[in-house]
Amino acid sequence: MINIVVLPGDGIGPEVTAQAVACLTELSAERDLGLRFSEHDFGGVAIDRHGLPLPEATLEACRNADAVILGAVGGDKWNDAAERPEAGLLKLREELGLFANLRPARVLEALQDVSPLRPDISKGADILIVRELTSGIYFGERSSAHDAASDVCSYTREEIERIAHVAFRAAEHRRHKVTSVDKANVLATSKLWRETVTEVAKSYPGVELEHMYVDACAMVLITNPRRFDVILTENMFGDILSDELSVIGGSIGLLGSASVGSGGPGLFEPIHGSAPQIAGLNVANPAGAIASAVMMLEELGLGDSGRLLASALETTLLEGCRTSDLGGDASCSEFGEQVRENLRDCL
Ligand code: ATP
Ligand code: MG
Repeated sequence: MINIVVLPGDGIGPEVTAQAVACLTELSAERDLGLRFSEHDFGGVAIDRHGLPLPEATLEACRNADAVILGAVGGDKWNDAAERPEAGLLKLREELGLFANLRPARVLEALQDVSPLRPDISKGADILIVRELTSGIYFGERSSAHDAASDVCSYTREEIERIAHVAFRAAEHRRHKVTSVDKANVLATSKLWRETVTEVAKSYPGVELEHMYVDACAMVLITNPRRFDVILTENMFGDILSDELSVIGGSIGLLGSASVGSGGPGLFEPIHGSAPQIAGLNVANPAGAIASAVMMLEELGLGDSGRLLASALETTLLEGCRTSDLGGDASCSEFGEQVRENLRDCL
């Protein structure tokens, strides 16, 4: 039995996760995967019900799970809360030791028309960003005075090694190339980054390693995205580059992500936020949540099932079934139902 904790969260989170869970339930029944789901309060909804975004019972359930599926958290309603929904997410990542964030993005043939890039540039682009998630400048010492402020960026060799291994292992299952992104011409942390990644690469002779400065990478993502396979980078650079990458495919609603650590359960969530303006209207695109479910299956060693779900999702888009963010009029539940219909066809 595989124990999956579902944290629907706020805004459109419950709507999109419901579609992903329905796909997984169907897949599990047909292929005897033994997936079991339990829902828990997390984020704003947990503040409303329990006074804090990450109640102890939710944390305990996540610790004991094989994987955690998350919708989205946050919304203006909780801006003045003592502990905001987003703080709950940071705490959950920390508690589960999730140091690697994986975000794949592709320009699908079926959605070439919604990509902001010219087809001759973007056609077939297929990139995975592996971002370090628990160190670097976002976690360094901060100080601010009236006329000066500083943020410290620091990395240890061990922190770089473990994230580099995640990237190289991922590349082994893809097109065998890692582009390590840094600013080694300026930053001390980037020099250590480059040196350490070069060392780790020796354990993966089948994977090609190249280094690129972050400013150059930001340009090449737009001018020649096809040259990338896996992009490996530190926390802040990864934050910025992954948002840049997210728009290449056409809609933020399409993309899933995985946050993984060493051994414990991973956290799987669409990259979009809670989008409160469209919450409850059944118009959100559940593709990102379903794409996250695909990543979860891969991470659980159920890659064959993951590929079936990925292909059902792609077929659905290829058939022209589109939610409003992609210019269509399919509802969230209609889109999910169509994915399940296509899934049944390939089971
Ligand atoms: P957050 O503060 O958590 O980032 P947000 O409301 O800013 O939440 P985003 O995910 O950043 O939400 O999305 C920005 C906008 O993109 C939303 O307001 C919504 O219009 C659109 N959007 C995001 N996700 C989806 C989706 N799954 N389907 C359709 N539209 C979406
Ligand atoms: Mg936002």
